[in-house]
Amino acid sequence: MFTLHATGSGHGLCFGRAHIFHRPGSEIPEYNVHPEAVEAEVRRLRAAIDAASDAMQNLRDNLDADAPEEMRAILGVQQMMLEDPTLVADPIEQIRREHVNAESALQKHGRQLLHAFEALDDPYLAARSGDVGQIVERVLGQLTGVDRDLDSLPEQLGSPPAEIVVVAHDLSPEDLLALSRRGIGGFVTSLGGATSHSTILARSLGLVAVVGLPAAVRYLCSGDHVVLDGMHGIVVVEPDSAALDTYHQRRRRIAGQRAGLARLRESEARTLDGQRIGLYANIQLAEELDAVHRERADGIGLFRTEFLFMNRPSPPDEAEQYRIYRGLVEQSGCPVTLRTLDIGADKPVAAASQWQEDNPSTNSALGLRALRWCLHDLSLFKPQLRAIYRASAAGATRLLLPMLSTLEELEQVHHVLAEVRAELTEQKLPFDPDLPVGAMIEVPAAALCTDALAPKLDFFAIGSNDLLQYTLAVDRLDDSVNYLYDPLHPSLLKLLQMTVQAANRHDLPVSVCGRMAGEPEFTRVLLGLGLRELSMVVSALQPVKRVVRGTDIARTEPLVAQLLDTPQAAGRRELLAEINA
Ligand code: PEP
Ligand code: MG
Repeated sequence: MFTLHATGSGHGLCFGRAHIFHRPGSEIPEYNVHPEAVEAEVRRLRAAIDAASDAMQNLRDNLDADAPEEMRAILGVQQMMLEDPTLVADPIEQIRREHVNAESALQKHGRQLLHAFEALDDPYLAARSGDVGQIVERVLGQLTGVDRDLDSLPEQLGSPPAEIVVVAHDLSPEDLLALSRRGIGGFVTSLGGATSHSTILARSLGLVAVVGLPAAVRYLCSGDHVVLDGMHGIVVVEPDSAALDTYHQRRRRIAGQRAGLARLRESEARTLDGQRIGLYANIQLAEELDAVHRERADGIGLFRTEFLFMNRPSPPDEAEQYRIYRGLVEQSGCPVTLRTLDIGADKPVAAASQWQEDNPSTNSALGLRALRWCLHDLSLFKPQLRAIYRASAAGATRLLLPMLSTLEELEQVHHVLAEVRAELTEQKLPFDPDLPVGAMIEVPAAALCTDALAPKLDFFAIGSNDLLQYTLAVDRLDDSVNYLYDPLHPSLLKLLQMTVQAANRHDLPVSVCGRMAGEPEFTRVLLGLGLRELSMVVSALQPVKRVVRGTDIARTEPLVAQLLDTPQAAGRRELLAEINA
């Protein structure tokens, strides 16, 4: 037995078997082979190609009858490319010349091919780089003996899906959707931090996760028994019977606590001194609506629309978005805040998509992403705005702008919104002409200029995840600087306080919808700073409500004020303990 520590998703326990999954571009072993073993290495490469080809043939033969025709065609093209002798000619030469292992020779050649394809002028041929990447991955999967395809996980492993723990270098949001749809229990990744989108999505989807465990794929082997403790960010590998007993007891205790929390659903989120606190849900999938109803959220404080845009080569059009937003507004029966596309950085667009080629800086945290990109490309932004306006005719809706940093951006947005309203009026399409428009306050520049922004807005929603990332210059995805990512840092608390005070001056509603809003240990801090609306992952609603109901704001405020003047982290932790006592 051994134990690994990293960052947890903040909830849940999962008992199961590890399954190593390699994503494209993840770690591939590199080593030299003995001169006498060179020909055996060449044979190993050829055998892997044959095995990958057989597996593809098998896949084609067993496609569901209703599988899209394009799928058969794509698999056919990929198999042809796989069987083309030129694919292995260079790697074989490299193995013979440099005595390197088959994986590294193939990976190197794969990268060269990829770049060669991408550089082609013909867009059809350039798009084939995606196929090259996938076939190289399939052969690497055969060579390394690890799975590179999430689609067949449960069938392949023969374990109940809920007892599978996927271990990977990184998992994209679309991978997580795939895991959740297959009922997988949890995952461990080398990358990720407390507020990376994979962690946020894991919590929404009920996947237990431990992230930011460098070289997770090296410590763990497929088939290892593991206990995943998402609450504390612990992975216990091959637990002994004492550890198993402890964790089983904990599981029973958690089940008991859940039952206690379920009883809170009917009660009001009101503090001891009588303040009603609005508790809202952050969701990213329409599938989460049932949970929103069950947990009696006051509304949807944040719908992350970007998840509709991921894992596809082109964006959804107005009609598709309208259908989804309208369905959400109609079925939720509560106010819905639809955030416009916040794509980029930790929510990357698919590498092979047209968008990425048009704008390589999208995936940088400081690049042309989110609202910046939308304003740059109105053909992307306008259909979304039209869809949101049209959905607003079906019930209470709010429009939320991510990553606003200047007044000029806001003026530009208003100009586009006026155009959209004029078009819809002309087309006699119904919409709410008073649709509230709010902004995420998540860039320090915006937090420092709220007085200038407020007259042009109807509400603020503080994105504490990004506000902290940009204030402290700490990449929210980078585990190596995670220790600096402290939500109690006075710089963040001061920006929160300033934003609340500005909102009050201008009589605007203000909420926090970053992760700290869903962490009961910070609930009193936020209430003490003057916040009265919190939006969070659905599973946090009752735990936060429990703290709200035990809070005396008048007692909390002076202690929270001291936090702002406590530069030492240790001192702040002591104060936090007193606040929560
Ligand atoms: C935030 O930044 O706090 C936020 C809620 O937005 P996201 O996590 O989607 O960037
Ligand atoms: Mg954000």
